[in-house]
Amino acid sequence: MVIVLLGPPGAGKGTQGERLAARLDVPKIATGDVLRAAVRDGTPLGLEAKAAMDRGDLVPDAVIMGIMGEALASPDAAKGAILDGVVRTTPQAEGLNAQLAQLGRKVDAVIMFDIAEDELVRRLSGRTTCDICQRPFFGREPGEKCAVDGHAPEGTLIRRKDDEPDAVRKRLTVYREQTSPVINWYDTHGARLVHIDAIGTLEEVEARVMKALQH
Ligand SMILES: [Zn+2]
Repeated sequence: MVIVLLGPPGAGKGTQGERLAARLDVPKIATGDVLRAAVRDGTPLGLEAKAAMDRGDLVPDAVIMGIMGEALASPDAAKGAILDGVVRTTPQAEGLNAQLAQLGRKVDAVIMFDIAEDELVRRLSGRTTCDICQRPFFGREPGEKCAVDGHAPEGTLIRRKDDEPDAVRKRLTVYREQTSPVINWYDTHGARLVHIDAIGTLEEVEARVMKALQH
């Protein structure tokens, strides 16, 4: 089962994606993670991505989609995958479909995490991020050590500038402009799209995700 998670940063799709992946026994694939792995492993596409980053350029969509295609084709993902943050724009949705079609597969479900702007601002203003592994934390203060994944040197938690209320509202506007067409695109391309109310405890939201997937 290939499931695409949509939702603004802070909506909880990373955490829910990890839980869903564990339940379904499939990998959670996030763009940043597969990109870093490809660069670290020095694959041909990883080297292309690194060259772009070294020049200070954005990694081209085609390179990212190629790396994504390799991750989807790996034996790990034979039973499916949870795609977190992979699709943010319509060209990315099209690119993903093309990659999956080459593998004889398709997107089985799209889960959209709905959250009100005020709640998102409240959540993100309390978020800190590891300055090395980029993992987000809620309820921990800037200056604390990351201490999660054993990376060395150890990361320090910082409050990102773009997590401040005005910046969050701006990001959210950009996000909505990019993502509304993606939702319409999936609506007209036969993928099952479900909306999840993303406000609630981890367990409440997880129960909604599982219920939505059973229909
Ligand atoms: Zn870290």
